[in-house]
Amino acid sequence: MTIPPELQTDFLAGLLRRTSRPAPAIAAAIIQKARAKKGLALEEVGRLLNLSAAAGKDSQLTEQLFQTAALVKREIYGPRLVLFAPLYISDYCVNDCAYCNFHTRNRELVRRKLTLSEVAAQTRFLINQGHKRLLLEFGEDPVHNPIDYIVKVIRQIYAARTPRGNIRRVNVNIAATTAADYRKLKAAGIGTYQLFQETYHRPTYEQLHRGPKADYERQIGAAGRAFAGGIEDVGLGALFGLYDWRFEVLALVAHSQYLERTYKVGPHTISVPRLRPAPTVTYRAAYPVSDDDFLRLIAILRLALPYVGMIISTRERPEIRRQAFQIGISQASAGSVTVTGGYGRQRRQPQFAIADERPLQEVIRAVMADKLIPSFCTACYRRGRTGERFMQLAKPGSIQHLCQPNALLTLAEYLADFTTDGLREKGYRLIAAGLRQITDDAVRSETERRLAQVRAGARDLYF
Ligand code: SF4
Repeated sequence: MTIPPELQTDFLAGLLRRTSRPAPAIAAAIIQKARAKKGLALEEVGRLLNLSAAAGKDSQLTEQLFQTAALVKREIYGPRLVLFAPLYISDYCVNDCAYCNFHTRNRELVRRKLTLSEVAAQTRFLINQGHKRLLLEFGEDPVHNPIDYIVKVIRQIYAARTPRGNIRRVNVNIAATTAADYRKLKAAGIGTYQLFQETYHRPTYEQLHRGPKADYERQIGAAGRAFAGGIEDVGLGALFGLYDWRFEVLALVAHSQYLERTYKVGPHTISVPRLRPAPTVTYRAAYPVSDDDFLRLIAILRLALPYVGMIISTRERPEIRRQAFQIGISQASAGSVTVTGGYGRQRRQPQFAIADERPLQEVIRAVMADKLIPSFCTACYRRGRTGERFMQLAKPGSIQHLCQPNALLTLAEYLADFTTDGLREKGYRLIAAGLRQITDDAVRSETERRLAQVRAGARDLYF
């Protein structure tokens, strides 16, 4: 792919320099403008990113930033938080990425790829925890992880059933590949195709990668090839800590705007992983991101790209996740294991250390205590609300009128199937409050009717 001018390293670095030292009044005006939920221009994003450095973390402006981000998140997606689990399928990998424990030089790792029956067993384990959506993780290895194996794994997951349910949406993280391979993923029924650029700073990218992944252009052009292969929802991300977080955020926004302009569809999600320690990895974050800056970058992304689903993982500690849920995050992994085939068994070497080890139910309890609605919704993808159609609903915030009833219905299922009295009662109170938040009388009464059906044993009802 020819890198568009606004994604080139020199351009982004120059823009960050040009926007340094923003006057507080200008920054305040940009935050005010963001309340309209129309997103921000790159220049404006640059000024907000420079705010922390230039304004000595001006507490009033920071407060304004966080409050506005919280407001925008609420007005687009409502109070729901969608939950999912990662599932590591194969750690065979031909790449040598400085920050990842699956790097090809790791001789201590006894590599594994799951057989289809192991895939089914891991899936059943996750179903029995209450999960409905998964994110699959594969290393890059054309011999061990060819596309046909990946497709069989996806089909196996969709076919797995237990008396407590099934997986309804499979998102996939595989290495950058061809439009023909993406077509196969699409045919297998994936939800979102996620691929992180890791770092958009080209010299850093080229320094930290060896193997096919070292091809910066292959990586950055993957979303376009995925669209060409018929995939409608793509997820972007950067691994924070490899390079200056301000640069990465600016690049994520530039990449999103480029996709929107070129394909009429921006990213469905943006993930914000921070670098974590991992066994056998000696690389240390060259640009560590403090907790304050991490929360700040989430808020700025929320203002810059209001419609984007934002994902946080269990790399983050519970108290950071809690704050992040309030200021922009709309999806979170929970109860995760980052070891291939690691659910329900002795753990071997993980891809990276996790910092939130709470089981799914504990996360749900905490989320509910903060008056957010844990959601296992998978409705949009199954109703064909993908790509441009999804954008048309997400941009004006109409999507929350679907997210809210769907969150309540999936929470009601979870409460009935996976909880006992104490938590269940709290959940029902939250559902009652959530119903009152639905302003459309017809939608509210239809949701009430379906909730009664769920209580009576019906499952998988959605709008
Ligand atoms: S209604 Fe759509 S956007 Fe909202 S939670 Fe469900 S799948 Fe996601």
